[in-house]
Amino acid sequence: MEAPKRTDSTSGSIDLRKWLINLFVLVLPAALATCTAPPAGTEPLRTQHVVILVIDGTRWSETWAATPGLIPNMSTTLRREGSFFPNFLNDGYTYTNSGHTAIITGVNQPIDNYGDELPANPSIFQYFLKQSGKPATAAWIVSSKDKLHILADTQRPDWKGTFNPSVNAGVNGPGTGYRMDSLTLVEAKRILTTHKPNLMLINFMEPDGYAHAGNEENYLRGIVRTDRYAKQLWDFLNENEPFKRNTTLFITTDHGRHLDGINGGWMEHGDNCAGCQQIYLLALGPDFNKGEIATRHTLIDIAPTVARLLNFEMDSVVVVPRVDTTVVELAMDTTIVAPRRDSIRLEIKMDTTVLQGSFIKELFPRKRLKELGL
Ligand SMILES: [Zn+2]
Ligand SMILES: [Zn+2]
Repeated sequence: MEAPKRTDSTSGSIDLRKWLINLFVLVLPAALATCTAPPAGTEPLRTQHVVILVIDGTRWSETWAATPGLIPNMSTTLRREGSFFPNFLNDGYTYTNSGHTAIITGVNQPIDNYGDELPANPSIFQYFLKQSGKPATAAWIVSSKDKLHILADTQRPDWKGTFNPSVNAGVNGPGTGYRMDSLTLVEAKRILTTHKPNLMLINFMEPDGYAHAGNEENYLRGIVRTDRYAKQLWDFLNENEPFKRNTTLFITTDHGRHLDGINGGWMEHGDNCAGCQQIYLLALGPDFNKGEIATRHTLIDIAPTVARLLNFEMDSVVVVPRVDTTVVELAMDTTIVAPRRDSIRLEIKMDTTVLQGSFIKELFPRKRLKELGL
């Protein structure tokens, strides 16, 4: 499946903008989520910092299907210290910008994978910065892929350009190319040390980048290296203040890769085959249960879980752009002899829906959920 592309005309964008403004100025305020504060005297959650590590495009068959295999650190030491979800999926759009957008907004949406299209909804970074009153250095995107700077903002008119997190992406920012993951890890640690952020998303790209290049040896080496970096990151968080004992780490991927024999197999991804949809989640932190959780969850459940951990609210009404294909007959000028032509127009229709992602209850001990009124 090709990544859906926006090809709307200027007037289409104006209509879209008008529509969004009407929605969010007139309709939304009445439909926002209500606040659920825990009963007085309840001990709050211990998590003060959340790091989400996305190891881009790592297929189940090369990772969790054959452990310890290429991931000895994640499958032994880290797994023992946290909760592992083998039944975790990207059941939306299995390409990079969309997968990451699902993680940070809690919404599956088709989004241009090679351009500057922004997520339709505000992100956990923006909600957190707004509600905590903290500066932009309290939330970071640290990414090997330069194009993921798009995760810092949204198209939504009432949020666009506000409460944006800090970005450290690619060799030297957007348009400068992918950076090696070893350097991204160095940058992540430097930023953690300097700014002590509460929220950070890290993207490692080597497995995905080398797979697209058809370099199987380096694809596998990328998995081995990022497994080691994941452990180094967890050790760093456990050895250094202010992260020690109060930091939660999520390790996941944005999508898998095609099953062998489907659309070229491991090199590509992007459809709804089982290889693309099957991903994983490893969740480690001071508030979580340890062990394996068999319940099915998907990428959009991470955002509402982060919201619980860092104690902020997300809107319950979100925008979900859907791309519909419409055949449009071009107007004919009868004075000109020309062949009759049809053209295809992509029309973006907007729906609103209740946020489908829900926080992952199974991570928390039952007693705590009860105490917190969840
Ligand atoms: Zn990806
Ligand atoms: Zn596939």
